[in-house]
Amino acid sequence: MARRSVVIIGGGISGLCAAWELSGGAGGPSDDAPRIEIIEASPRFGGAIATTEFAGHTIDLGADGFLARRPEATSLVSELGWASRLEAISAAGASLWLRGALTSLPAGLALGVPTSASSLRRVKGLSWSARRHARRDELFAHRLDVGDDATIGEIVRTKLGDELAYQVVEPLIGGIQAGRIDELSAKSVFPALLDAARSGGSLMKALRPKGPINPGPQAQSVTDGPAFYSLTSGVGSLADELVTQLRDRGVVLRPSTKVTAVRVARGEYRWDVDSLSTTTPADFVILATPAPVTSTLLSQYHHAFAALVDVPYAGAAMVTFHVATSHITLPPHGTGVLVPLGTAWTGSDSLVTTAITFLDRKWPHLARDGGVVLRAHVGRSDDQRWQDMSDDALRERVSAELTFLLPRFSKPDASIVQRWPHALPQYLVGHDRLVESARLESQRCGVALCGSAYDGVGIPACIGSGRQAAREALASIKLAGTPLS
Ligand SMILES: Cc1cc2nc3c(=O)[nH]c(=O)nc-3n(C[C@H](O)[C@H](O)[C@H](O)COP(=O)(O)OP(=O)(O)OC[C@H]3O[C@@H](n4cnc5c(N)ncnc54)[C@H](O)[C@@H]3O)c2cc1C
Repeated sequence: MARRSVVIIGGGISGLCAAWELSGGAGGPSDDAPRIEIIEASPRFGGAIATTEFAGHTIDLGADGFLARRPEATSLVSELGWASRLEAISAAGASLWLRGALTSLPAGLALGVPTSASSLRRVKGLSWSARRHARRDELFAHRLDVGDDATIGEIVRTKLGDELAYQVVEPLIGGIQAGRIDELSAKSVFPALLDAARSGGSLMKALRPKGPINPGPQAQSVTDGPAFYSLTSGVGSLADELVTQLRDRGVVLRPSTKVTAVRVARGEYRWDVDSLSTTTPADFVILATPAPVTSTLLSQYHHAFAALVDVPYAGAAMVTFHVATSHITLPPHGTGVLVPLGTAWTGSDSLVTTAITFLDRKWPHLARDGGVVLRAHVGRSDDQRWQDMSDDALRERVSAELTFLLPRFSKPDASIVQRWPHALPQYLVGHDRLVESARLESQRCGVALCGSAYDGVGIPACIGSGRQAAREALASIKLAGTPLS
């Protein structure tokens, strides 16, 4: 009996984790694992996570950290034997650019949403009307019928008013997915917000943590452990290490090979997976590709797959600078600066920068005497101006904007531009139904879907979805009734 075969299409963190689980996961390598092949279109594995050498540092070009309170990423790091490389974030809080000046973000935010009117007292630049909205939410909350789902914007604007929605909430929550709060689904992006809105009373009270509210950047010691982790070798090195250990487990990794079709096979295997030059037979296929690619590859089998083309993607650019400490003054606390969309710059033009991350303040392994490493985030779902700029033009533009946003920023001695076109799926209202239908159909067909398009864009969610897809594959080929090897 031929050995069972699973093909994984897409070698980002989700696809790599599917292979890790298939090859035995924590207890691997497993003798009865199927033959596993990962087919990746680009020359490099890792997708949206990658590191590079820059000004004497190893920096991340994409994700630079992951949530600590979800277990998937920290567990994986331990399984790889890399627990000693986990590095806790070493700063908390952030600044907000509000009415032409930097102010501290309020303490006790729930994913960007204030949880008390009093926390806004020290936020300079907020109007009295915004403060009044917050007080009114605590005392006489607006009722809102959210039905099955609503946009984050609809909930926050109704409960807390436009100013808090666009000047405080959107810069953080919209920034995570490079999207707009008026488009993003509360149910899929921030279910606790939907629950809070459904409770019918004060949004802020309903979102308040049960324990003590984090009192802000100067008082980290009262929080329960770090909020985020990175790796001392950069988040991107997680993909590199997975590739190394997967090769040792006998997984076949094929870079620079774009899958063009997933066909029903006629012979012993269920599927034939085609690239331009090869065909790989498979009993089971895991699609760890962006939703529109998955849609193209599977649309002939069911309209639920075809509908995945409706998951829109936003692109973003990251421009990282190294600057001498003598040429910059940073705010005294915090991991960076958030910039509300549409912030006026020169003439009728608005800033392209949506956030700045102080990389060396967040991650101790990047700290050096005499220099600062920071990166500017550029682009939102409805602001892709950066796509029309050359790297040099983008560098110059962002550098000029940093001069405006950060006191004394000047003469960066190194910079690097990283573009991530179509990297961040936007979970719009109805996203859960698209996912549910496609998943139902995938079970029937003998394929599994995983990746940032389905269960959350963060790295822990992607790891979890890759591993879950692998468990489905193992269950399916076991059900088929033959031994795995
Ligand atoms: C700029 C940026 C910053 C981020 N910051 C953070 C952060 O700090 N923390 C966090 O938790 N998350 C962050 N994220 C989100 C997180 O990094 C991603 O959601 C996650 O890495 C996506 O992994 P994935 O494997 O699902 O998809 P991807 O990484 O997109 O991988 C999909 C893979 O499929 C391949 N592919 C596509 N078509 C084909 C084909 N036809 N044949 C074969 N292969 C194909 C692609 O080349 C790609 O490698 C960030 C994302 C971006 C873009």
